[in-house]
Amino acid sequence: MEKKIKLLDKTFKPFLSHEEIEKAIDQVAARINADFEGCTDIPVLLCILNGSIMFTAELMKRLTFNCELVSMKLSSYVGTRSTGQVREVMGVTGSLKDRRVIIVEDIVDTGNTIQDLSRIVRERGASEVRICTMLLKPAVYDKDIKLDYVAMEIPNDFIVGFGLDYDEVGRNFRDIYVLDPDPDYHVIDHTMKYYILFGPPGAGKGTQASAMVEKFNLCHISTGALLRKEIAANTKLGLKAKSLIDAGELVPDEVVEGMIEHEFDTVKGVSGFLLDGFPRTIAQAEALDKILAARGEGVTSVVSIMIPDEMIKERIQHRAAIEGRADDASEDTINTRIRTYHEKTEPLIDFYRKAGKYTEIDGTGTIEEVRAKIFTEMDRL
Ligand code: AMP
Repeated sequence: MEKKIKLLDKTFKPFLSHEEIEKAIDQVAARINADFEGCTDIPVLLCILNGSIMFTAELMKRLTFNCELVSMKLSSYVGTRSTGQVREVMGVTGSLKDRRVIIVEDIVDTGNTIQDLSRIVRERGASEVRICTMLLKPAVYDKDIKLDYVAMEIPNDFIVGFGLDYDEVGRNFRDIYVLDPDPDYHVIDHTMKYYILFGPPGAGKGTQASAMVEKFNLCHISTGALLRKEIAANTKLGLKAKSLIDAGELVPDEVVEGMIEHEFDTVKGVSGFLLDGFPRTIAQAEALDKILAARGEGVTSVVSIMIPDEMIKERIQHRAAIEGRADDASEDTINTRIRTYHEKTEPLIDFYRKAGKYTEIDGTGTIEEVRAKIFTEMDRL
């Protein structure tokens, strides 16, 4: 494997050799072959441009059943005022109607793209959707969508090569490289950051979180998403939480505190954490202070996205149509969540204001406008 490479203003060091990548692709292709062996239909391999070009080519060479290649590209997010995120499809090269589709991705991190893709592919009439990704960042993946075939899991680092780019360069390398934090360019700050992303339901916390974790190398911990994962997996905890969540009530403090502590203990290789949906009560905030104090750390700051009450419902109802969350579906549940927010969560504003850690951002603009304000604040902090 070659030595370090320089792409534009950044240096990258070797991470995964071509041989390791090929071996992982051999294994994932074998699993797909086993699942599709003897099929009488012609499944579609949907290559997501540009990143998964190399992976799709290598994977396809190894498949032993009849399959068709279709490619497509998604535009980047197009924000529309208060309506959440929308992505547009650019050029699907074949029909997906009544076909079994295997989406082939280069990398899955938070899962936003995969979420959009599976919806789009279903809307185009696919009879079944499976997902195959070369790389997965388990520490930041927070969606409930099942990833059927994962070739390799990696930490939440910025990587290039084998189809993946940095500002459109670096795709041509046959090995995969990771960003080398070059002391000539950056002052390395070893203190872990603990940001709290605060705001009423529907304020856009989840939407903004993906950009924040990427820019500041943070691990996104959404207690809501963690609980939904437990529910999807039918665990004891999930069963206990489901009725409370469906009713718009909070789950017991100790349950979420335990989940948070577990994440702090297990996630490695990040510069800090972005807590989304936690703390939601004063008791949770006090518990968080204790958990962090025991680690010699503390809350860095609270970034609060604020929208007026009348916008909360409008946003949640829009999200219900996109994500299909059970607790977004009924008006009663939404009302209970708003009431719970005012009664139990809003007092945290004063709690963190008094601690000098509270920063408020107007969340009523477009996604991009709100994101820009958040970044300005975080850079300042
Ligand atoms: P969210 O995805 O943040 O809107 O959370 C969905 C639901 O999960 C909430 O309405 C609560 O029922 C539950 N939940 C999430 N985070 C917490 C928390 N910190 N404390 C108690 N319940 C929570």
